[in-house]
Amino acid sequence: MSTPSGVSRRDVLLSGVTIAGVSFFADELLAQGQLTPTPACGADHAPTLRQTEGPFFTPNSPERQSLIEAGVTGRTLELTGFVLARSCKPVPRALVDFWQADAKGEYDNKGFRLRGHQFTDGEGRYRLRTIVPARYTGRTPHIHVKVQAANRPVLTTQLYFPDEPGNARDPIFRPELVIRIGQAGETRQGRFDFVLDMA
Ligand code: FE
Repeated sequence: MSTPSGVSRRDVLLSGVTIAGVSFFADELLAQGQLTPTPACGADHAPTLRQTEGPFFTPNSPERQSLIEAGVTGRTLELTGFVLARSCKPVPRALVDFWQADAKGEYDNKGFRLRGHQFTDGEGRYRLRTIVPARYTGRTPHIHVKVQAANRPVLTTQLYFPDEPGNARDPIFRPELVIRIGQAGETRQGRFDFVLDMA
């Protein structure tokens, strides 16, 4: 992939996803092994904030990286990132279980639509293909997630979107849990790294 003149690959990685009309796909960078952890490695990082599970979690979701299937409509979101320890060391084979509302703000509480779990790869990376959820009564748009390293406690939290007017009105919203969003055509490219409370 070409890089706009005068802009280094590193600048691109640090500054976002779209520069000078050139789109950089987070998952493409992942595939190339060039996606680097968001926190600067070497420091002792605060674990990702915990948030309430809420009323709509269903256990035993199917294992899959894409939640897009027949009947699921909405704006495509490709969310990628790492699961890291506080040391910034990637956590391979960590469980990452997502669930979310659909484009109308509704959960599937009978089946597993927009629910799925996966395990990070050998380098601690996950990759989710889904849609941007809609807000629902009292809540700004968010994605629920449970993250767990093998034989460790579960981190339950929620992820948010930048520039959502509802964020300011949602008492649960926390800016530390906002996904870094870029745009590639109609698809939103998201990046979030989880930090587990483990050395
Ligand atoms: Fe929710």
